[in-house]
Amino acid sequence: MKTIAILGGGIGGLVAANILRDKLGDRVDIKLVERKRNFQFSPSYPWMMIGSREPEQVQRNLDLLEKKGIRVQHSEVRSIELDEQAVKTSGPEIQYDYLIIALGAEYAQEQIPGLAENSYHIYDLDATLKFKKAVEDFSGGTIAVGISRLPFKCPAAPYEVALLLDYHLKKRGIDRAKINFFTPEGMPLPAAGADIGGRALEFLKSRDIECSFKAKLKEVKTSEVHFEDGSTTSFDLLFCVPPHIPPEPVVKAGLIDQTRWIPVDPKTLRTKHENVYAVGDVTSVPTPSGYVPYLPKAGVFAHGQAELVAHNIATEIKGRGNEKSWDGHGSCFLEVGYGQAAYVKGGWFTKPRPSIKFYKPSRIWHMQKFLFEKYWMRHWF
Ligand SMILES: Cc1cc2nc3c(=O)[nH]c(=O)nc-3n(C[C@H](O)[C@H](O)[C@H](O)COP(=O)(O)OP(=O)(O)OC[C@H]3O[C@@H](n4cnc5c(N)ncnc54)[C@H](O)[C@@H]3O)c2cc1C
Repeated sequence: MKTIAILGGGIGGLVAANILRDKLGDRVDIKLVERKRNFQFSPSYPWMMIGSREPEQVQRNLDLLEKKGIRVQHSEVRSIELDEQAVKTSGPEIQYDYLIIALGAEYAQEQIPGLAENSYHIYDLDATLKFKKAVEDFSGGTIAVGISRLPFKCPAAPYEVALLLDYHLKKRGIDRAKINFFTPEGMPLPAAGADIGGRALEFLKSRDIECSFKAKLKEVKTSEVHFEDGSTTSFDLLFCVPPHIPPEPVVKAGLIDQTRWIPVDPKTLRTKHENVYAVGDVTSVPTPSGYVPYLPKAGVFAHGQAELVAHNIATEIKGRGNEKSWDGHGSCFLEVGYGQAAYVKGGWFTKPRPSIKFYKPSRIWHMQKFLFEKYWMRHWF
């Protein structure tokens, strides 16, 4: 019996494991390795930050997958031994016939002096709870919301944070709050093109959120952010997306390239090693006709890629059916507060340019995001 090892039980790993089980039944042994007990749905963290969600509403125990015949091993992946087709973990070692790497991205706040001590973020569940508390304690002043380094996951998330904070503080009657945004990007949502970036910027301006672009963070002091061009901005509360780095085991295995992520074939998500695939945030996917050179990191892409990889592995093992190509389609909600969300949808591989549409904020997209969360919490378990 063939063994398919899936590393990472986040969005990509969860989808791949489910689809392989659906398509192949018990013809294969599916092993999912994840260090955490629970699957955690990060698209809900912006809601958690303002007290609209509790931790138990955005998590599911991964052991629920065992009843479907997916073997879940809660251990730390230590190394990927490509020559031996083996994965060493803090638990039992795994021999694989097929390997799907879905380990996501790690964070490295220590790359920027003062960042860990002086800032908050919502890039994991515990950090979100800490920021939620800081927001509750905030009684007025300047909030700086920023992005430290590129690339980072979910291009809309920090903008969503700024807009939701603005809404939430007004709702709490804290009028004495000013939100300043900084980013090394040249405009908001650069991967969606100048038109959509411009519309997002107009929207931020309409909410009096001041934006600084091409601002590369150098250092953070107790109440001041310093940029590489010598400029500074002061804050009473700082939210900052941490630098993202690839997980250690993929670096040690020599899987990354000059992008610092795993290069994959954009259509098949194959790495250069036989029967080894990578999906989601851990990859670098070139977009030759795109507005930016590589696909942004987002759950919707991890999902689509995992579906595709699972389909193609199942086709190969069954020896019938046709291999498919991934089309680079995706979509994303941008919560803006007041019960509304905007929506961006499109294809990132279309030529001569990506075909992406922006739907202005409305209640409908907010409801859709709500349903999207419910789908994730139920469908895959
Ligand atoms: C605040 C926020 C909002 C977001 N909103 C959206 C949104 O609205 N739409 C959207 O499309 N995307 C959104 N994203 C991005 C989305 O969450 C990620 O792009 C997506 O989770 C990537 O999926 P993945 O499978 O590649 O990695 P992940 O989902 O991060 O999964 C990786 C898993 O690997 C595990 N892991 C890592 N290293 C090891 C190891 N050594 N041993 C064992 N386990 C390990 C991790 O614990 C993790 O569970 C958001 C992200 C954040 C932070």
